[in-house]
Amino acid sequence: MDQFMQDNVNINIKDLSPGEIEKFVLQNNLQPFRARQIVKWLYKKGAGSFDEMTDLSKDFRDLLEFSFLLKPSLELVEEQVSKDGTKKYLFKLFDGNQIESVLIPDKKRKTLCISSQVGCALGCTFCMTGTVGKIRNLTPSEILDQYMIVNQNNAITNIVFMGMGEPLDNLQNLVKAINTFIDPNCLGLSPKRITVSTSGLVPQIKELGKQVSVNLAVSLNAPRDELRDELMPINKRYPIKELLDASINFPVPNRKFLMFEYVLLKDINDSDSDAHTLGSLLEGIKCKINVIPFNEAYPLPYQSPSWDRVLKFQEILISYKINVRIRKSRGSDILGACGQLTAKYPSKIVKEPPLPEI
Ligand code: SAH
Ligand code: SF4
Repeated sequence: MDQFMQDNVNINIKDLSPGEIEKFVLQNNLQPFRARQIVKWLYKKGAGSFDEMTDLSKDFRDLLEFSFLLKPSLELVEEQVSKDGTKKYLFKLFDGNQIESVLIPDKKRKTLCISSQVGCALGCTFCMTGTVGKIRNLTPSEILDQYMIVNQNNAITNIVFMGMGEPLDNLQNLVKAINTFIDPNCLGLSPKRITVSTSGLVPQIKELGKQVSVNLAVSLNAPRDELRDELMPINKRYPIKELLDASINFPVPNRKFLMFEYVLLKDINDSDSDAHTLGSLLEGIKCKINVIPFNEAYPLPYQSPSWDRVLKFQEILISYKINVRIRKSRGSDILGACGQLTAKYPSKIVKEPPLPEI
């Protein structure tokens, strides 16, 4: 109980961006380099207490101790390994909620798929996380600690915000975490190795672009508004044209491409005609498209198309000179593939998901 009360009084120091830590240092009449010392202890040396920060004065360490908490915001409760080498991690949060992260190794990279929320409000009809509903946003420290904990035993090279939740429905905390990921004194990841995936919150895409330059993946999933309205209710608010305008203007890093994701659902969005519509929509746009055969998960009412259908869909897109890649499902035997993450929450399948307040 004492521990719980303490959690609510002080904020976790990893919830502060590097800029906010510097502000705190300046407010206490100390030199800016003190902020760099603090973040190096936190993120480079993995300090577990303020007392370990031996190059800071005892008085300053006491002030930090008085003002902030320094402890992991997540507890690792389960680790599952898929037969393809993908690993799924189940974490418990301080309030008992749970989230999942997925580590996907391939020849050159080790990519961590990070969650940004417990559940998701957007109710896309093909996604298990959507069937849970939104429970809450993750704090910056909860976003960062997924990386910090998994990175202890794995040399992560890339991160993608494709785990549970809609990252742009948690924009402020997402940006704070990204700033810590990329700051050379903190985790020092290149922005080219960070991808934010979104279902298409147009104002937030514009705002994210003003604040950071990272890779953007847009989950398109349908080339026509009438179908996209059905699969992704958010399309009723931000239809395809508005979404494409905002996406094209997003400042991706140098020599990187805007990405689109397209989940192929058998007999729903996988026809030749839809491939042609998609081809004409994206023709001439500097982008890459990932075609993802639907990862089946009970009780979602969809199926994955045949391999021939997937190849035909790809072939049509290529005829429009679009850079298309089929993304094979990884980790589906442990429900670790895209759209399968629920962190053991029951799904509340709803026929017509209401539009969330965003
Ligand atoms: N909310 C964000 C990020 C998390 S979802 C977004 O929607 O982009 C990450 C990706 O998984 C999205 O591209 C989504 O379209 C895809 N996805 C969701 N459910 C899926 C499923 N059952 N099979 C394959 N991909 C799925
Ligand atoms: Fe949310 Fe993305 Fe799943 Fe849609 S696809 S419900 S936005 S996590």
